[in-house]
Amino acid sequence: MAEVGFEQYPVQYLKMVGPRRFALLNRLGIKTVKDLLYHFPREYQDRTVRKPSYACTHGEQVTLQGRVVGVSELNPRPGLCITRVKVQEQTGYFFAVWFNQPYIKKMLPVGSRVQVTGKLERRYGENQLLVADYEMLDGNNGVEQGGIVPIYPLTEQLTQRLMRSLMRIALDEWTSRINDFLPPAVRQKFSLPELPSALRQIHFPNTEREAIRARKRFIFEELFLLQLALALRRRRITRRVKPHRYHDHMNLVDRFLDSLPFALTASQQQAWEEIRADMDTPWPMNRLLQGDVGAGKTVVSTLALLRAVGSGLQGALMVPTEILAEQHHLTLSRDLAPLGIKVGLLSGGLKKKERVQLLSGLASGEIPLVVGTHALIQEDVQFKSLALVVIDEQHRFGVRQRAILQYKGHCPDVLVMTATPIPRTLALTLYGDLEVSTISELPPGRRPVRTYALPFSRLPDVYRLLQREVEKGHQAYVVCPLIEESEKIDVQAAVELMEELSRGPLSRCRLGLLHGRMKPAEKEQVMEAFRTGEIQVLVTTTVVEVGVDVPNATVMVILDADRFGLAQLHQLRGRVGRGEAQSYCILVSDSSTPEARFRLEAMTATSDGFVLAEKDLQLRGPGEFTGTRQSGLPEFKIADLIRDWRALQLARQEAVALIEKDPELNAPEHRSLARELSIRFGGKAGYLDIG
Ligand code: ADP
Ligand code: MG
Repeated sequence: MAEVGFEQYPVQYLKMVGPRRFALLNRLGIKTVKDLLYHFPREYQDRTVRKPSYACTHGEQVTLQGRVVGVSELNPRPGLCITRVKVQEQTGYFFAVWFNQPYIKKMLPVGSRVQVTGKLERRYGENQLLVADYEMLDGNNGVEQGGIVPIYPLTEQLTQRLMRSLMRIALDEWTSRINDFLPPAVRQKFSLPELPSALRQIHFPNTEREAIRARKRFIFEELFLLQLALALRRRRITRRVKPHRYHDHMNLVDRFLDSLPFALTASQQQAWEEIRADMDTPWPMNRLLQGDVGAGKTVVSTLALLRAVGSGLQGALMVPTEILAEQHHLTLSRDLAPLGIKVGLLSGGLKKKERVQLLSGLASGEIPLVVGTHALIQEDVQFKSLALVVIDEQHRFGVRQRAILQYKGHCPDVLVMTATPIPRTLALTLYGDLEVSTISELPPGRRPVRTYALPFSRLPDVYRLLQREVEKGHQAYVVCPLIEESEKIDVQAAVELMEELSRGPLSRCRLGLLHGRMKPAEKEQVMEAFRTGEIQVLVTTTVVEVGVDVPNATVMVILDADRFGLAQLHQLRGRVGRGEAQSYCILVSDSSTPEARFRLEAMTATSDGFVLAEKDLQLRGPGEFTGTRQSGLPEFKIADLIRDWRALQLARQEAVALIEKDPELNAPEHRSLARELSIRFGGKAGYLDIG
């Protein structure tokens, strides 16, 4: 029988772990000995004994040791019990003091040796130590021999003391049997300690340097494994030969380009060439198209879709919201009608009969192009010859959804688009499996949006500006405060704001209301009225955030702007400045917290999405920014994408090089690495398709 490894050995078989403790450990996600040993200290306390009590100053935090020579108990008043233990040092003595822990005196018989940590006080010529933590220095339970002591993240009812004991036991029983899965070459290249000693050192380091070295190893390990998984995934997808080829006999791409009222910018052109080159290889495309809000990604993706349709194949455009689906459907239908192309819309608002019709059109191939939300990847949607899937606003979808698409049996080319500019460090992690094209410039003639941050007392001025713009024939958005706890309250706030505005400041404008609780058909009606200009001012919640394109809108007013994240504010601002007229974005806020100020100042200082993304990352950490939490990426145990960006880059380079050399991880020195990968990533519904 194969020996059970520490990644399988249940932690409840460990000494000292019964059912109750097992349940507690489970709450920390600890099920196996490996989970336990990978439960790293969050910090350390230095409890090295450096000097005797007489050399300490009043109020100092210290660790002292010595032999117990006497114990006394005082009850100065009811409910207060003081235990004073006299401890003899080599020269001199001190009193260790506990409050309300009467059982202590039984633990510390005269003659035993003890180490105590706490605050030293000098009173009446005596040294007193108010004990925060203690340990026995003789006997078998002397698990903590002073020095640098680990402090663990805990759950209620688990103690540091117990955790340390368990770690000792696990280390003693297992370290001699644990093999390192990192290839020796990689370990040597970055001078990383071997797994068994790294585990010892991260829990019980002898010096601070040891702890740092051990942490470095686990940080690298975590990033390296993820990058390997992504590199493998990319390789596995791109290695399959796709069934379809493009020729565009119908010449749709050129005909569409001719029909456009503008020429592609140089970087749109470049992106299109990269995409086209990918489409023309025998392997599925897996590419990210990024470009700031309004950079013109849609046109480029339309070219790709047309190349598919012109080749007698099918294309799908997947977007995060119904509003966007409808908008894209509308513009595509309009722009492609002259070419005689029918565009389907798969939305939640479809009647049963319409839905059946659409599905059969997709299955028969009669509908060559379809727009929809993630409903597109549901079970009952079948295509005749799906060749290309474009995913808009990728950050709203997860890695997992991308993966599902790839396994719908068609091996389609996949183009994902994002307007949420992503700092490079994050892109490597989130999109480590994708090639990247970037549209780096805005279409010509765009004027940067003028952005102001103003207090509520200036609202009258704000509405005057808005009114003036409307009189000039332009349109505007007013986004009302976001109250995240409840969509219902959001809606109510929007309704009230709408009434208030129509009674007072904007009584001369035609107002419309849009919020998330409206039915798809209602929403579409409102958007349509806004597009045609029938509605001049759209009062809305953040449902307009992503992708809405009404170039005639020139004013974006965001109330309580401090409640929004930078990425959101940038997206909202991107709704204006889409035409040639000067546009304005006004952030109204009375908040003076440093974080709010930082965000509002960042918004007024720059309109460059990438700069904002870096700032937001600084401010909030990566999870918040791109929604890594929903992205299906594993949470990091020890690595930190901002702090460890350098390690991330090294790990990525190393992973890519390794997969190039040994694509299947078949070499003997890579076997255990392959195994580790399948343990870490294989089980999760194959979202990285490893193992
Ligand atoms: P995004 O990258 O945010 O998706 P869109 O594709 O919605 O941007 O484009 C924004 C607007 O710019 C649209 O109205 C589009 O028609 C227009 N546009 C796109 N490319 C160009 C171009 N090369 N020249 C002028 N206008 C363009
Ligand atoms: Mg867009």
